[in-house]
Amino acid sequence: MTPRVALIAHDHKKDDIVALAGEYVELLRGCQLVATGTTGGRIAGAHGLTVERMLSGPNGGDLQIGARLAEGAIDVVVFLRDPMTPQPHEPDINALVRACDVHNVPCATNIATARMILDALARQMRGGA
Ligand code: PGA
Repeated sequence: MTPRVALIAHDHKKDDIVALAGEYVELLRGCQLVATGTTGGRIAGAHGLTVERMLSGPNGGDLQIGARLAEGAIDVVVFLRDPMTPQPHEPDINALVRACDVHNVPCATNIATARMILDALARQMRGGA
């Protein structure tokens, strides 16, 4: 089945997630991508990937992705949070990360973890472990 990957980044992390998507562009081309509004627009614009865009995070996009995840429709989350800046939608952010824990969905909140998860996903897709 095509892996369903959610991509979200706070404003100070958007350049990082665009660069990460560039590193893994061939892998991500084989995935079904969903993202919060601005993040999705940046990734689609930079790499020509097809990304389903939800609302912007502060307007409920994290909650939309969390709801989808709770229904079993997201396999991996890359959520580059900005740990240095307070966010107005902190409760929504916590709800999404909690939903990942409730439903045992891998969730990378920094680039090092994201690389490990995406590398593992690439191996799975090649038919390895
Ligand atoms: P954005 O939302 O991609 O629309 O900026 C991300 C967030 O801030 O949660």
